[in-house]
Amino acid sequence: MAKVQTPQPVRGTQDIFGEDQERFRHVVDTFERVRRLYGFKGVEMPVFEPTAVFARSLGETTDVVSKEMYSFEDRGGDSLTLRPEFTAGLSRAFLTNGWQQHVPLKLSTHGPLFRYERPQKGRYRQFHQLDAEIIGAGEASADVELLCFADQLLRQLGIDDGVTLQLNTLGDAESRDAWRDALVEHFRAHEKELSEDSRDRLERNPLRILDSKERQDRPIADSAPDIDAYLSGEAKEFFAQVTEGLDACGVKWERNSRLVRGLDYYRHTAFEFVTDRLGAQGTVLAGGRYDGLIEALGGNAMPAVGWAAGIERLAMLVEGVEPDRPELAVLPMGDEAMTKALSVASELRGAQFSAEIFGSGKFRKRMTRANQAGALAVVIIGEDELASGKVQFKNLATGEQSALDIAEVIENMWDLRFSEDLGALGSDIEALEQDVAKLGESE
Ligand code: ATP
Ligand code: MG
Repeated sequence: MAKVQTPQPVRGTQDIFGEDQERFRHVVDTFERVRRLYGFKGVEMPVFEPTAVFARSLGETTDVVSKEMYSFEDRGGDSLTLRPEFTAGLSRAFLTNGWQQHVPLKLSTHGPLFRYERPQKGRYRQFHQLDAEIIGAGEASADVELLCFADQLLRQLGIDDGVTLQLNTLGDAESRDAWRDALVEHFRAHEKELSEDSRDRLERNPLRILDSKERQDRPIADSAPDIDAYLSGEAKEFFAQVTEGLDACGVKWERNSRLVRGLDYYRHTAFEFVTDRLGAQGTVLAGGRYDGLIEALGGNAMPAVGWAAGIERLAMLVEGVEPDRPELAVLPMGDEAMTKALSVASELRGAQFSAEIFGSGKFRKRMTRANQAGALAVVIIGEDELASGKVQFKNLATGEQSALDIAEVIENMWDLRFSEDLGALGSDIEALEQDVAKLGESE
């Protein structure tokens, strides 16, 4: 038979396995833990939506809608789009489910998103985000809480070092319009020096020229007027409340007056957590206040603020993730012992211990593999053990070995796990004591 050619994966997709998967999972698990501390409810969302959900939310002039969406007609002739982001779908869900009754509503979700982009390190066509939104809260305290959540997440992932929170305000509608006019005037005066993309943006989306990555645009963008001169008293007050709140919570931030979000419905707070450790793909988490979006989808005016973080980019930064491991290794010697090994492993798993059977190969090799896998203890089942009904239990840390029945194995495992947890707790307490000592010094 002729050799069949293996189909290749879609460009820009990844099969995430092994250590990469463990880091990915660690990011998601940490997010799930921290979002509960802040009282964000989880929500599971469809992967596709009617194309209008994104076209209307994001606007036809954005890169995502004009160049990056995976849209297709389904068999019924409806135009559908694989979600390129979460906010639009969550806003749609808010309206179609009548979630108005729950405001202020704190929502969180995570999962795959799809954008037709040029794949490179940190940029994929299927990628994954963590997402957090507060819908129906117009106060600056909501922005602060959301940013504290983001900050704590990065700290718990151990990647806060070298990641900076850059913060800006886009003001209210009035401030923003006045600033936009001043920007257009500035860019018109330098139109000939701008890149082609930015000349195009001048008509459609002039704010976006400010964060252009084209080198020739930088001097013109950097010399453009700040929003500060155009901020209304109210907008100034709102920004002051946000920065005061962050200071009170000990969240470090930096003003970046070039930071914008391109879409018209963005108001007030805009932010990005940025690192220089990932080359050009340095933004790990980004968001802002989008008070006009729900209205753009046909709802009543509804303030909201949110952020999204790229899971792949966060996973690239995390270090020291403990791999999955069996707490107990079971080593059967011979066919008959395998049946016993299966039942021993089942009982241990039933008692909530992870157990793995190392069933083949030389005894020494299996012991080595059990050790390398990180097992706390080994159970050995040979002919003698089958006859006596007891198994050999070996503590891998101390080397101690004894003949035990299953109830005793489980008891010993509880002790081993407890002393391990205590050890981990000990180093946590040490770190905590060092933090407290540092706090004392700085006061
Ligand atoms: P960029 O300017 O890098 O294209 P963006 O403005 O399109 O970013 P957002 O839509 O704000 O990005 O998405 C929030 C976060 O999701 C980004 O900061 C990044 O961490 C991640 N992200 C966005 N697009 C991709 C992608 N194609 N692959 C991997 N991660 C992505
Ligand atoms: Mg993009």
